[in-house]
Amino acid sequence: MTYFCPACWKILPASIKICPFCGCDMAAETRSYPQRLIGALHHPVPETRELAAEILGELQYRPAIAPLLARAKEELQQRRPDVQFLAALLCSARDLGAPQQEWQTLVAQANSRLLEELIKKDKSKYPRT
Ligand SMILES: [Zn+2]
Repeated sequence: MTYFCPACWKILPASIKICPFCGCDMAAETRSYPQRLIGALHHPVPETRELAAEILGELQYRPAIAPLLARAKEELQQRRPDVQFLAALLCSARDLGAPQQEWQTLVAQANSRLLEELIKKDKSKYPRT
């Protein structure tokens, strides 16, 4: 299990109390790790957003389904949606058991061959339509 600073998102040892990179006090952070990851879905750094989406899937944190789908919808409103990020969001949502119809609607809405390929590369739970 990899741990990240909830403020600067650098990788940290699990036992650390104060982030050596930014000084964030872990004890003062009251949100659970998955809740912090959900917060990081809006992180300004694309790689960090993507990583947060992936880890939520790995954690099998089912309450993340709704925030993952909501974030995917939000991303689809962008003029140029981040396809890598969308793939991470949608693969995790799928792995956590997102409603299939809602999930497929979002994939179709993206209308992106690259997105479909990225999802296909990830182990597929839903059959292709
Ligand atoms: Zn930090």
